[in-house]
Amino acid sequence: MNPSASQPEMSDLTEDLIARVIRPVVRGWQSYHVPSAEGMVKLDAMENPYLLPPELRAELGRRLGEVELNRYPVPSYTALKAGICQHLGVPDGYDVLLGNGSDELITMLSTACALPGRTVLAPEPGFVMYGISARSAGLDYVGVPLRADLSLDMPAMLAAMDEHKPVITWLGYPNNPTGTLYEAADVLRLVEAALPYGLVVVDEAYQPFAAATLMAELPRFNNLVLMRTVSKLGLAGIRLGYLSAAPALLRELDKVRPPYNVNVLTEAAALFVLEHVDVLEAQAARLRAARTVLAREMAALPGVEVFPSAANFILIRVPDADKVFAALLERKVLVKNAGRMHILLQNCLRITVSTDEENAVLLAALKAALHAL
Ligand SMILES: *Cc1c(COP(=O)(O)O)cnc(C)c1O
Repeated sequence: MNPSASQPEMSDLTEDLIARVIRPVVRGWQSYHVPSAEGMVKLDAMENPYLLPPELRAELGRRLGEVELNRYPVPSYTALKAGICQHLGVPDGYDVLLGNGSDELITMLSTACALPGRTVLAPEPGFVMYGISARSAGLDYVGVPLRADLSLDMPAMLAAMDEHKPVITWLGYPNNPTGTLYEAADVLRLVEAALPYGLVVVDEAYQPFAAATLMAELPRFNNLVLMRTVSKLGLAGIRLGYLSAAPALLRELDKVRPPYNVNVLTEAAALFVLEHVDVLEAQAARLRAARTVLAREMAALPGVEVFPSAANFILIRVPDADKVFAALLERKVLVKNAGRMHILLQNCLRITVSTDEENAVLLAALKAALHAL
């Protein structure tokens, strides 16, 4: 018997099925695109360029070898949470919720708060996952443009809050892709203004590079959620984020957490690295020093505007970002062409701060690219 003879083609069937089951709005989206970085000096994703020292990697290997891969994680994650609270400055009486990267925490927040007609708010340009996750959960997303100098437009933010009554307001502290560290007083004013409507999530993904945190403010505000990740600190590969908030709120958010969301290898690696967090902090200090040098050197190039950064990347404006981006690619240097992300970022490139050697490669390539314009 030939089943295809009397039946529609498989591809037609699949398309029909997709049209019936996948939400129309989802069918219109594109997948999150990550460009290939093979053979490149990779300066597009804010990774820490340094590995752990060899002796720590060897010890980590032994620890990971002892992990019982046949068992599910214990979903309370008591030891890891305690380690994070102890080593990473979580206030007394406050606990953390763990995510498979802070991307998953963003999803959990959206899921827990989503109802048709509800809105989330964020300054723009900001981290793209806030909008992606909101739309996935069926929330409306409203972006409020930053001012031309990439600072918060407070009157516009307050007006948008009153208009849209956002169930979540997202603030990168410092912000990605701009590197801006908003005024703490402005952020706290928004937390207060948001109280009748919802939560304010202060996203401190770049806290190791910022010399600033609002963690200690948690006890003052019931609607403040503080989110961090170990990704930019040097552990992007293990996928671990954490957030802290008022204990009662944390208990509600935990209800939408997939029970085994942090795997046993991540748990063991994080527990080990927390014992040596000074190593990662020293790496972050090196990157902060390198940021100062790189910013100064780029600012000295004709036609380059450098925006102040409190993160491990630097946003610059060049005369023609598409051409400079392409010229850098030809020289095997991958940065982020931020000019395509938002109207306020026209002709901007976002560049991860790396080792002295990679920063020198970037500078030479950037000089050549500008020269060729
Ligand atoms: C990189 C980044 C994240 C995502 O971190 P993961 O833990 O790797 O998912 C969250 N917020 C901001 C602002 C980021 O830049």
